[in-house]
Amino acid sequence: MANGKIGVTTENIFPVIKKFLYSDNEIFLRELVSNAVDATRKIQTLTSFGDFKGELGDLKVRVSIDKEAGTLTVSDHGIGMDAADIEKYINQIAFSGAEEFLQKYKDSANSIIGHFGLGFYSAFMVASKVVIRSLSYKEGAEAVEWSCDGSPEYEMHPCDKAERGTDIILYIDDESKEYLDPERDIALLKKYCRFLPVPVVCGKKQEWKDGKLVDTDEDNVVNATEPLWTRKPTELTDDDYLRFYHELMPGREDPLFWIHLNVDYPFTLTGILYFPKVKSNLDLQRNRIQLYCNQVYVTDQVEGVVPEFMTIMQGVIDSPDIPLNVSRSYLQADRQVKKISSYISKKVAEKLDRLFTSDRAEFEKKWDDIRIFIEYGMLTDEKFYEAARKFFLLKNVAGKYFSLEEYKKLVEATQTDKESTLIYLYATDPTAQYSYISQAEKKGYDVLLMDGELDEHFMSMLESKEQKLRFVRVDSDIPERLIQKEDTLKSDLSPMEADILQGLFTSQLPEVKGAEFVVTLEALDANAAPATVTQNEFMRRMKRMAEQQPGMAFAANMPDSYQLVINTNQKSVAELIKNSKDSLSAEISPILKQIETLNAEIASERKSSADNASAEATSAGADSSEELKKALQTKESEVADLQRQQSALIAGYAAKQPVVRQIIDLALLQSGLLSGKELAEFINRSISLL
Ligand code: ADP
Repeated sequence: MANGKIGVTTENIFPVIKKFLYSDNEIFLRELVSNAVDATRKIQTLTSFGDFKGELGDLKVRVSIDKEAGTLTVSDHGIGMDAADIEKYINQIAFSGAEEFLQKYKDSANSIIGHFGLGFYSAFMVASKVVIRSLSYKEGAEAVEWSCDGSPEYEMHPCDKAERGTDIILYIDDESKEYLDPERDIALLKKYCRFLPVPVVCGKKQEWKDGKLVDTDEDNVVNATEPLWTRKPTELTDDDYLRFYHELMPGREDPLFWIHLNVDYPFTLTGILYFPKVKSNLDLQRNRIQLYCNQVYVTDQVEGVVPEFMTIMQGVIDSPDIPLNVSRSYLQADRQVKKISSYISKKVAEKLDRLFTSDRAEFEKKWDDIRIFIEYGMLTDEKFYEAARKFFLLKNVAGKYFSLEEYKKLVEATQTDKESTLIYLYATDPTAQYSYISQAEKKGYDVLLMDGELDEHFMSMLESKEQKLRFVRVDSDIPERLIQKEDTLKSDLSPMEADILQGLFTSQLPEVKGAEFVVTLEALDANAAPATVTQNEFMRRMKRMAEQQPGMAFAANMPDSYQLVINTNQKSVAELIKNSKDSLSAEISPILKQIETLNAEIASERKSSADNASAEATSAGADSSEELKKALQTKESEVADLQRQQSALIAGYAAKQPVVRQIIDLALLQSGLLSGKELAEFINRSISLL
C-alpha cells in the first residue's frame, strides 16, 4: 500500500477544474475512451512488432454503468499500467502556474485538458472519486489499484485483477447523475467516438419482445472503426461516398461532388469534403465540417482550419497536426494551420479544374449550384481566384456557358467600345428586361445572366482585376449607346422644336413612386421605340453601394433616377414635333423672341458691370453698380416668367395630345414601371385610341 501526494503544486486543483470546466464536462467520456483506445492500439502495435506474444483477447472498449453503485466504468484490454506507470503518467502531472492558466482559458475545457495532458483528470469534473484498476501487459506485472477522492491525496495498492488492461471507475457526483443514464452516454459516445478505430461498446443491443424493448446478447457497438476517410480512395465507389455523406448529414439531398483529402507531408491530414447544393443563405450552412484528431471528434468549429469560404462545405477533416487544444485566435495565427488551410483550398480548386476539363457537360450541369460558392471563394481568397479563373463559367440569357476566356473571344469583336474597353452586357431579370435584351441581341450583342446573390460584387471584382472590362446592364442605356462605338446621334431639331418636344414630355411625366425622370432627345433608328426608359449603370451601382453601407439605409428611400430617351426619328414623335410646332409657334415665337432679346441684354449688362468693377471704384460707381444689379434682377425674373408662360402653353397643348402620355406609358411599361392607376388609364387610353 502506497499513499502519496499527486504532483500538483497548486493546493487543490480539482475543485478548480470542476468549477471552470463544468459547462464542458461531457468531454470526460471522450478523454477516457480515447485513452482506452490508445492503450488498445498500443498492445496491437506491440503484437505486430513481436514485442508482445500473449493472447490479445477481446479488444473492445466497454463503457458500463452501475446505477446502484453510482459508477461509470471505462474498461479496456490494452497495455495496462503497473505501479511505476501510474506514478509516472498519473501522479506526476506537471502543474506549475496552473491557476493562472485556468483563469486565462477558463472558457475552454479543451484548452486546459490538452495543455496539461489532463485527459485522465477530466474524470474529476463529474466524479467525486476515481479508481484505476490495472494490469500491465509486462511479464510478471502486478495488478494495481489507485484511488483518489479529488483531493491531492491518492492511495495505491496491489489488487487482484486477472485480465490485462485497465478499468477506470468513476463515482459519479451528485451534480452529474445524468451520466448514469445509458442513453445519455450512448449519445455522447456517438458524438465523440463515432469513428474511433477500436470498437466501443455501451450496453447490449436491444430488440422488441412482447411489446417491450429487451437486451439481446449482442454488444451494442457505438462506432464505425474504419470510417471512409481512413480508406484508400481507389477502393471506394461513389455509393460509398454517398452513403457516408448521408450518415454524416442525415436528411439531406445528395451532394454535388466531393474531395477525398489525403496528405502526409508536410503535415498529416485526411478527410472528405462534400459540396452541398447551395443557392443562397451562405450563413445557414456553416458548421458542417467536423474536425477529428486520430478519429476522435473534436469540434465542428473549423474557422481558420479551412478557408472561410469553404466552411459551407460539409464533411470531415482528420489531422493530428492541428493544435486542437488552443484558443481559436491562436489557431488562426498558427503557421501550420495556415498551410493546411491553403492546402485544402488548392485541393478544392484542383478538383474543380479536373471536373471542368474532364467532363465539361457534367460540370455545367452542376455549375448553377456551385456558382455562389466559387464566387464567394474568388471574392475572398486571392489564390483561389487565380486558380478558379480557368474554370469559372459565365452563363448567358440563352443558358449557354462560357469560361472567361471563351466569352472574351466570343464578344471581343462586337462588344469593344471606342475606348477599347470590353463591355459585357448583362440582365438580372430576363423576364422584366426582355425587350432590352432582345434589342441588344438585335444589335448582335450577347447578354449574360447575372442574377446571383453575389454577382454584383463579383462583377465589380472582375472589373478591377481584368484589364479593360466593364459590365453594363442591358437597360442602362439605349441600345445604340450601351457600347459606344463613335460619337454620333446628334439631333437635328431646331432649338424651338427641341424646347417644345422636351416640354411636351416633361409636362406629361406621371409620378412614379421611387423614381425620377429626366427627358433626353436622341435621333435614333426610325424603327426603334418612340421612347425608352434607361437607368445609368454607374448611378444604379452607386445607389446600391450606398444602401449597403452601414448607417446609409436612408439611401434606399431615395428615388432612382431614370432617363426617358425620346427617339426624334420615330414616326409618331416626328409627327408630334411637326404638329406641335404648327400649333404652338404662333404663340411661342414671340415669347422666344422676347426671351432672346432679354437674354442678350442681360449678357451685355453683365459684361459692362464686370468692366466697371475692374475700373477704380468711386462712390458714384458704387451707386450705379447697385442700380445695374437691380435692373439685371428684374430682367432675369422677366425671363423666368416668360419661360413659365412657354411651359404652360406647351403643357396645355400636351395635355390634349393623348399620344404623348401613350408614348411615355409604353416606355414605362417596357421597363416595368407602370402599375396601378396609371396602368389602368393606359389600357383605357389604348382602347379609345384603337
Ligand atoms: P494524455 O492521454 O494526453 O497523455 P492523460 O492524462 O489522459 O493524458 O493520460 C496520461 C497517461 O496515462 C497516458 O499517456 C497513458 O500513458 C496513461 N493512461 C491513461 N489511461 C490509460 C489506460 N486506459 N491504459 C493505459 N494507460 C493509460
